[in-house]
Amino acid sequence: MNNKTVLVTGASRGIGKSIATLFAQNGYNTIINYNKSEKEAKDLYNELSEKGYSVRLFKADVSKRYEVNSMINFCIGEFQSIDVLINNAGISKDKLFTDITDDDWNEMMDTNINGVFYCTQKSLQYMISQKSGKIINISSIWGLVGGSCEVHYSTSKAAVIGLTKSLAKEVGPSNIQVNCIAPGVIQTDMINGVSDDILDILKEETPLMRLGTPDDIAHCAFYLASSGADFITGQVISPNGGMVIY
Ligand code: NAD
Repeated sequence: MNNKTVLVTGASRGIGKSIATLFAQNGYNTIINYNKSEKEAKDLYNELSEKGYSVRLFKADVSKRYEVNSMINFCIGEFQSIDVLINNAGISKDKLFTDITDDDWNEMMDTNINGVFYCTQKSLQYMISQKSGKIINISSIWGLVGGSCEVHYSTSKAAVIGLTKSLAKEVGPSNIQVNCIAPGVIQTDMINGVSDDILDILKEETPLMRLGTPDDIAHCAFYLASSGADFITGQVISPNGGMVIY
């Protein structure tokens, strides 16, 4: 038990599940947030709590400010602090730019950037008075270099990078680190729609010759949350197998 508390949004599956699992295994009080995938979230909660880890489950849509506020208040009520916030929840949708509707655009922004805004702003209420905290935002490689056929997704992820850099400057004096992970192509349900041919090409274009795994991202987040990363803030780290080197 390290007595620290982490909140992982969108933690029922994929990258969020790996992150929540790694932190729970390492003694963090871990809040597993989910929105729609209740069964997966409950399965994860049962698996981790049966092993004796300190975990809680909280249903909240990160795009709804009042649900986010209840979730952070729950976290404080249960564990009296929020030490690490991992803004992982996200959606993606492939669409030509000319086909994107207002609803598509707004749904993407509501989840991928407004959700980060709501969760971060509420958590900071406590982190600033604690005089410590780590905020880790999951962006995307496409937020760094641009991605065609998903302009709304890439724009939302670029916004996450902008928020990270600016906020790091503002809250650094309160001993709060804000960093961003911009994963490359990671094997999760999010890439289910990508054909095997495209995935083969992506692998060939990647110096490490493979796609990423959720654990690759979890270990990166774990490092950024550790005291070893206390002097790192405002940075974007991109675990992508070398597919993009910048
Ligand atoms: P995923 O679809 O498996 O997981 C996304 C999770 O977010 C799901 O559990 C989903 O229920 C949750 N979620 C979505 N909207 C939510 C909301 N409004 N409130 C609460 N939870 C919500 O995909 P993943 O690959 O694990 O994605 C995790 C993060 O990593 C996302 O932000 C994604 O954009 C980012 N990412 C993924 C890849 C990839 O190749 N898989 C690459 C770069 C970045």
